[in-house]
Amino acid sequence: MSNYPELHLLVEGEQIGTASRETIDVLDPATGEPIAALPKATAADLDASLEAAANGFRRWRATSADEREAVLRKGAALIRERASVIGAAITREQGKPFKEAVGETIYCAMLLEFYAGECKRLYGRTLVRPDGQRVEVRHEPVGPVAGFSAWNFPALNVMRKVGGPLVAGCPVIVKPSEETPAGGLGIVQALLDAGVPGDVLQCVFGVPDEISRHLLASPIIRKVTFTGSTAVGKHLAKLAAEDMKRTTMELGGHGPVLIFNDADVDKALDTMAGNKYRNAGQVCVSPTRFLVEEDVFERFRDGFIERAKAVKVGNGMDADTQMGPMASQRGLDGIQAKLADALDKGAKLGAGGNRIGNQGFFHEPTVLSEVPLDATIMNEEPFGPIALINPMKGEAAMLEEANRLPYGLAAYAWTQDAKRRMRLANEIEAGMIAINSGTVSAADAPFGGIKWSGYGLEDGAEGVTACMVSKTVHETA
Ligand code: NAD
Repeated sequence: MSNYPELHLLVEGEQIGTASRETIDVLDPATGEPIAALPKATAADLDASLEAAANGFRRWRATSADEREAVLRKGAALIRERASVIGAAITREQGKPFKEAVGETIYCAMLLEFYAGECKRLYGRTLVRPDGQRVEVRHEPVGPVAGFSAWNFPALNVMRKVGGPLVAGCPVIVKPSEETPAGGLGIVQALLDAGVPGDVLQCVFGVPDEISRHLLASPIIRKVTFTGSTAVGKHLAKLAAEDMKRTTMELGGHGPVLIFNDADVDKALDTMAGNKYRNAGQVCVSPTRFLVEEDVFERFRDGFIERAKAVKVGNGMDADTQMGPMASQRGLDGIQAKLADALDKGAKLGAGGNRIGNQGFFHEPTVLSEVPLDATIMNEEPFGPIALINPMKGEAAMLEEANRLPYGLAAYAWTQDAKRRMRLANEIEAGMIAINSGTVSAADAPFGGIKWSGYGLEDGAEGVTACMVSKTVHETA
């Protein structure tokens, strides 16, 4: 099939294709039709990958910072070169517009370029006592890492799983989502082609719970990193606890957006409506609950409805498409159930509300307003193209609602008042806050949440230290 590669496992540098393994179908969400078969790893494949990772660890941790940096820089260059090929595969398997898919791939290269520089910044420290005693604080790689990632960013989620560990000196066995395998395979292959050894970076697929149980049961794996739902994150954290493995959990959110009377409403609308419908709303940092101060409520709601209606929905491979289909039937069913519940409980429908056509998983960009707090959608992540816009009275009530849920990933606020901005930065419970901006992620800044949105960080220097353990050596002459 054009625009879509042959799929395989990557174990110890060997490609294992579909001929000798059971397979899973990969669907095109724009048609609902299969586009490729994906091989499933056997228990023997997983055991081979574990043994290889143990060997790879001995060698990779001993490489110099210069060597690691050079390989990662080459990997980034290859990812840039291949961005349109990887991007086309992402659009085919996940649905997002081709331009967004290429942007995601380029962002992977930028992240890797930042990480490459971090190879030379793995510092320890030495404390020298007046009596000649020295205390040396060393940071060492934690060991082989198992990474499991979600389908919403097929390439970027995988990049985030492998970048920090590779800098720190850890091998990784990564399992991208079976629903969107090619984006992650593209990233892994570029790194292997750049010179990362085949026993240092491996890629497997299968039944998610079987793969994670198998890998986590092994003492070889010392860290687990996961992107996905809070429910699965809690499950994996429990399995990791059995063997005291370290964990990084990048889980769901329910992003509040506080729009104050003094906000630049047009800028807020242009920025946040664009953010809301990006990737059909299937973004963990998506803006979700719009809490709008009374005086600007109607203007904001009406402006949002206008922008939602103008979004061009279509096949992600068409040049003028601004929003593609949802990634799966499961996602489409999920938002339709949450929408029905909200409307039943009295929410007002401002735009959209329906599935588009009966082929593929398309849904209209949707706006709900005056949504009651007991509607499921006000409490569980919609993970779809739905904005929830409610009128609010004053800062205290807006803060209370922003912090009401157990999630704390991304939050947004729009206000011209500098003192208020400081209060919001202090009081909003979230891992990342954007004020008068829609951007919550940068290669050199940590990405991650608090509360049920997870713990441990990716990106920035923190993405590397999350893959290291400390050893303190007390030495007397
Ligand atoms: P999910 O957590 O079931 O699946 C997410 C990914 O985790 C999938 O790619 C799956 O292969 C993998 N996975 C599932 N069970 C696993 C296991 N036992 N071991 C290892 N990997 C496993 O989520 P979903 O059903 O795809 O989506 C449900 C909700 O999860 C969404 O509506 C959204 O709220 C949230 N979600 C969040 C993110 C994020 O970026 N944080 C990504 C995807 C989904």
